[in-house]
Amino acid sequence: MKKIFLDFDGTIVNSVKKIVQLYNERFQKQAEWTKVNKWNFTDQCPEIESSIKSFFASDEFYEDLELYDFNTLRVFNLLKNKYEVIICTIGCVDNVAKKSQWIKKNLKHENIILLAKDNNIMDKSIIDMSGGIIIDDHENNLFTSNADIKINFGLKREWNQNWSGLACSNWQELESLLL
Ligand SMILES: [Mg+2]
Repeated sequence: MKKIFLDFDGTIVNSVKKIVQLYNERFQKQAEWTKVNKWNFTDQCPEIESSIKSFFASDEFYEDLELYDFNTLRVFNLLKNKYEVIICTIGCVDNVAKKSQWIKKNLKHENIILLAKDNNIMDKSIIDMSGGIIIDDHENNLFTSNADIKINFGLKREWNQNWSGLACSNWQELESLLL
């Protein structure tokens, strides 16, 4: 079975929307998540920098966290019939601990690689993905991976603007490409 190394934030779930929601609540702002173009959110959420790590590590982040789109769960389960799906994600220790519990509960899935890091550098090259497929919204994870097939996921943003390879903007497109 071919392996898929599937990203979590910005791929399975709409992390940008949730972080902007937490920012608006904390700072009493009305930032719009659809306008976020910078990886660190500072274009729409100028006061966020000292809080962003705590937002990602908070219990609130995982409360009512939305799947990326209407087709996510259906296509995710279809992919599992054809591929070995490994969710592969980076975060701080508290973030990935809570994330694995969310994945188990909401996706009924326990095949997960958690990379706990104390920085925000996107790089999953420590994982041998040879022969497999990586799906990720951040171009650095794609550029540094040794996967056979690399697919950028999501809308064009600053963090994937240099990617010119395979790309899907939503889960329906991913279904068409892989199933
Ligand atoms: Mg991501």
